[in-house]
Amino acid sequence: MSFIEFKNTSKAFGPLQVLKDVDLSIEKREVVVLIGPSGSGKSTLLRCINGLEMITGGDLIVDGLSVKGGKKVLCEIRQEAGMVFQQFNLFPQMTALENVALGPRKVRGFSKTEAETQAQELLEKVGLSDKGGHYPSELSGGQQQRVAIARALAVKPKVMLFDEPTSALDPELKHEVLNVMLQLAKEGMTMVVVTHEMSFAKQVGTRLIFMEHGKIAVDDDPRTVIDTPPNPRMKDFLSHVE
Ligand code: ADP
Ligand code: MG
Repeated sequence: MSFIEFKNTSKAFGPLQVLKDVDLSIEKREVVVLIGPSGSGKSTLLRCINGLEMITGGDLIVDGLSVKGGKKVLCEIRQEAGMVFQQFNLFPQMTALENVALGPRKVRGFSKTEAETQAQELLEKVGLSDKGGHYPSELSGGQQQRVAIARALAVKPKVMLFDEPTSALDPELKHEVLNVMLQLAKEGMTMVVVTHEMSFAKQVGTRLIFMEHGKIAVDDDPRTVIDTPPNPRMKDFLSHVE
């Protein structure tokens, strides 16, 4: 069994069918890059993996657990899947260190000291060892996003889900975040990444998926399909993002 398995998975919001019979298997240590037009279902696909959205058809297995398995199982799945959003979503009233230390205290039962020691190590890992005492409002967008990555890593997830993590950042700050993501990929973290950064996909992507109207239209090696898109709509899409 693969680490993540979409099995004929569907997701509807009322009458709106957003994911349509998706079949997709992701192995451990893969870095899957998702692209596609706005509204094609990329965020929804990610959010289904950690149960932020509940599927409405088929099944979705994460590390042997079905997202349909009930509240307790869903709680386990959420701990295995760290999520990073476009808009950082840090807690504004907490320092960077407190943001990173919170999850392990709540979810893993760490003591304050344990959680803060680990949080400091994670801030070092993302290049922010001197920023622990800063509040989000005192940090640049690139720094906030790196804190958000450290926070997601703090609960020791088995997969990291990134939803357009650099889209809200000024061009000169994107690379700070991409470098952290590249490092994670090289360490063997399993990742599913919605991004338009095709250089990232080419460097570490194991697969590139082009979504269209809730379906997977292309699923192939990034280094092959980015340069020669097999689908005219993907070609058109790429000509607008690069
Ligand atoms: P993408 O990330 O590819 O832009 P999304 O997964 O965010 O696409 O959205 C896919 C479709 O689902 C869009 O038509 C969007 O409006 C719709 N949608 C997303 N979330 C909700 C929701 N909570 N309620 C109703 N419709 C939604
Ligand atoms: Mg989206």
